[in-house]
Amino acid sequence: MAVQELEPPVTASPYVRDLMGELKAKNPAEPEFHQAVQEVVESLDLVLERRPEYRGARILERLVEPERVLMFRVPWQDDQGKVQINRGFRIQMNSAIGPYKGGLRFHPSVNLGILKFLAFEQVLKNSLTTLPMGGGKGGSDFDPKGKSDNEVMRFCQSFMTELFRHIGPDTDVPAGDIGVGGREIGYLFGQYKRLRNEFSGVLTGKGLNWGGSLVRPEATGYGAVYFAAEMLATRNETLEGKVCLVSGSGNVAQYTVEKLLQLGAKPVTLSDSDGYIYDEAGITADKLKFLMDLKNVRRGRIREYADKFKDAVYTVIDPMLDSNPLWDHRAQCAFPSATQNEISGKDAANLLKNGVYVVSEGANMPTTLAGVRQFLDAKILYGPGKAANAGGVATSGLEMSQNSMRLSWTREEVDDRLRKIMQAIHRSCRETAEAFDTPGNYVNGANIAGFLKVADAMMDQGLV
Ligand code: NAP
Repeated sequence: MAVQELEPPVTASPYVRDLMGELKAKNPAEPEFHQAVQEVVESLDLVLERRPEYRGARILERLVEPERVLMFRVPWQDDQGKVQINRGFRIQMNSAIGPYKGGLRFHPSVNLGILKFLAFEQVLKNSLTTLPMGGGKGGSDFDPKGKSDNEVMRFCQSFMTELFRHIGPDTDVPAGDIGVGGREIGYLFGQYKRLRNEFSGVLTGKGLNWGGSLVRPEATGYGAVYFAAEMLATRNETLEGKVCLVSGSGNVAQYTVEKLLQLGAKPVTLSDSDGYIYDEAGITADKLKFLMDLKNVRRGRIREYADKFKDAVYTVIDPMLDSNPLWDHRAQCAFPSATQNEISGKDAANLLKNGVYVVSEGANMPTTLAGVRQFLDAKILYGPGKAANAGGVATSGLEMSQNSMRLSWTREEVDDRLRKIMQAIHRSCRETAEAFDTPGNYVNGANIAGFLKVADAMMDQGLV
């Protein structure tokens, strides 16, 4: 979203307000990082009242300071022989409960602030999965769009030529994110193996015949749908027959649509950064197959969906507007699966006006603070990203376990574990929200449940 929304004031104790003031002064020009921290510390005020020892040990202040930030030059040559320079990053945010774990994002918008917000969210998300993983995030301002496979390979090799010395199966295990899918993970893994002369589980999202796990590509989208199903079950409802708005058309969006279809729901939208399609008749399994070929093989644009299926309407998205027409259709559920801040305050109001009462975030921080407040005030079933999209990293954790044990589980086994993990995350968010006197508030539930495990581990390990 290009239009900057007015930031709602911090609604918390003087201690937390001071903490936010310091954070902004110390990390200027990083609005996404400020936003992610503000949402969390507002929830954590409830904890600090009951556990003042965290304040004494300055756990919050330590949590917002990355353990290590790496920033490096990535030189590579394009197909014309011209020298190109990009910037590479890895944020090793917190290792209290396990090796750093989190994706790599390749997108021109990538900068330090965006990666710090993602790494911060990742710490709490990984804690929620019940698996022993710390939090990290990395990437580059490299844009894979429009590049040849050879250019992507040369870039990935140069990126890994610096990154390899900072990561390892017991230190830091990166994965994919926006712009980093199976192709990029393959090139990165190949170069790591060559430089280290070792074949190990240093990356997740690997190909099936070289250490990958079944269901990893599907896991984030499937998990977001499982989370929505769990939220609906608390009202004795299912996804069957529900009209669903989905944004994005990449990895998360594709498998969100696939699982929605399996559970009898009706997805009607998809998008990319140029525009969106509205298919009132519903996106079917055949249409999804076309989309997957369009996006994953031909690497085309979503507009072509409407060229192929004439009943679907394509609309260009104007990033200068304060709202996105994708969120202005009648529906019951929304699955934002593209990027941060794609649901503004106005979009949230439109969703509520159009009857949406389930929002399950496949993307990271897709809703602005103003939007989140409206969802919470309306008491809809709102599953924040760090809970709803944790299925991806959870299955990465399962990939790490399989690599360590040198075996592969079946599709059914991994999917079953994923479903149980999403149920456990949902239960933990719900029970924690209740224990802190805010029943039904999954934002507080996720922030507090994720925080407690990390904070206690930090207390146990002393001042490091
Ligand atoms: P992806 O396969 O690269 O797809 C991203 C999709 O979002 C594309 O359709 C892209 O359109 C669109 N998009 C990206 N940046 C945009 C922008 N600034 N404005 C509008 N549209 C934009 O990435 P992904 O893995 O599906 O990730 C999507 C979201 O899920 C991200 O927030 C990511 O952090 C989150 N997530 C991913 C995973 C995972 O396992 N992959 C796990 C947890 C959370 P264009 O092609 O036009 O750029």
